Amino acid sequence: MIKSDTGAAPSGLSRRNALKLAAVAGGASAGALFSGVSFAQEAAPAAATDASTGMPNWRRIALGEASVTIILDGLRPGEGPHPTFGENQSAEAVAELMRTNFLPETRIVTSFLPVLVEMGENLVLFDTGFGPGGRENGQGRLVERMAQAGYAPGDVDIVVLTHMHGDHIGGLMEGDVAAFPNARYVAGQVEYDFWISEEAKNGPRAQNAAAVEKLVVPMKDKMTFVAEGDEIVPGIVAYEAFGHSPGHLVFEITSGERSLWLTADSANHFVASLQRPDWEVRFDMDKAAGIASRRKVFDRIAEARAPFIGYHMPFPGVGFVEKDGEGYRYVPLTYQLDV
Ligand SMILES: [Zn+2]
Repeated sequence: MIKSDTGAAPSGLSRRNALKLAAVAGGASAGALFSGVSFAQEAAPAAATDASTGMPNWRRIALGEASVTIILDGLRPGEGPHPTFGENQSAEAVAELMRTNFLPETRIVTSFLPVLVEMGENLVLFDTGFGPGGRENGQGRLVERMAQAGYAPGDVDIVVLTHMHGDHIGGLMEGDVAAFPNARYVAGQVEYDFWISEEAKNGPRAQNAAAVEKLVVPMKDKMTFVAEGDEIVPGIVAYEAFGHSPGHLVFEITSGERSLWLTADSANHFVASLQRPDWEVRFDMDKAAGIASRRKVFDRIAEARAPFIGYHMPFPGVGFVEKDGEGYRYVPLTYQLDV
């Protein structure tokens, strides 16, 4: 199902030309534009919106001179938010917060949002979604939807891993080959060291350690390991926000006068995690550190009044926060970056 590297690109359109065309189209999305372009012999890419709902699958925003494209790798409906969120709270307390926010009390839908940042000469991909392992559940659609946004896998220069949980590393490989054949890789040193340790391989997360062994370790010769304050490319800086995983990273992207944060999995529910940052989250491997990092990251973003993208926020996952009572008020992006 996955198209070859070259086959995924709209015919005759290089990535940059495609972007220029998209810009020429003005208000029209590049996806809409491409539907009017004749494609090569290969079948045209799937529609840029979900056929049954009209929901878009990708969104591009401008940040100074940079272009930031959020791709919906997939959605996962399930039971929750309790006890995944508010594990140390009563089910009723979590249900009440959901009710107050017009959300279902026992059902949740989670987004998975890899991000492409085009800055200077670099196309940087942050996280890779589920990859082949997610397809039977409707996830793992990053590469397919990148094509709709005008990017082929071979266009990616750098793949950055915010951390090494399965929903972030699953798309590194298609079968036995690298999904992004021209890319080098960036990951946190602390994160990598943990997942290849005997402690990880023999602990409760052994299955995830096995996924790291299969998907990440083969890339290690092309991998740069980073820590607090390291610059990935000019304008993109890594910061440590440990807790969700042992070496979890967030990133500040600056271009021109604008900054935007990628908060990865610092907060994974736009209400439960932000309005109640001190509630314990089952997926946070060190719950106390996860809480401390959540506060550190969102205090800083609130102070800066900067937009951020959360990997699991509702698509397109871009918003702002202000401090509000014991937590934060989340304001989804509308037209702030368009003017
Ligand atoms: Zn995640």
